Amino acid sequence: MTNFKSTDCDMATIIKTFLADYRQRYKLTPEQASVCQSIIQCQTESLGGEHRQCTACGYQQPLYHSCGNRHCPRCKQNASEQWEEKQLDALLPVTYYHLVYTLPHEFNAWCQLHPKIMYALLFKAVWQTLSQFSNTHKRLQGQLGVTCVLHT
Ligand SMILES: [Zn+2]
Repeated sequence: MTNFKSTDCDMATIIKTFLADYRQRYKLTPEQASVCQSIIQCQTESLGGEHRQCTACGYQQPLYHSCGNRHCPRCKQNASEQWEEKQLDALLPVTYYHLVYTLPHEFNAWCQLHPKIMYALLFKAVWQTLSQFSNTHKRLQGQLGVTCVLHT
């Protein structure tokens, strides 16, 4: 086990510290390995960038490119916060419910092979289920709306 200080708590540091040990016990999919690599390289010299220099004192500050990976907490946090603000702006003064729909684990391989098709089918099934519920429920009078978020 590698030395790890609790003050080293950014995702890239955690992955760099524990990835080798983890890979000795578990196999990563190519996608998982790619995500780990992206997070480790995000905003570092390995992705390139530029050096900014203060015209007054000459101090140089490197600005490295972000990885752009949707799983990277460093470069996707702003996008996530903007999405959340947009959703909050669209809220109506009504009661909301949090529903969770899951797929059986038997579909995991299918989701890895055909994610767009499988998740589109999941969302379609969710919408059909909720629509049928609202159309047949006597006390509900109105059209349901949903915001679907995929957690993989
Ligand atoms: Zn990143």
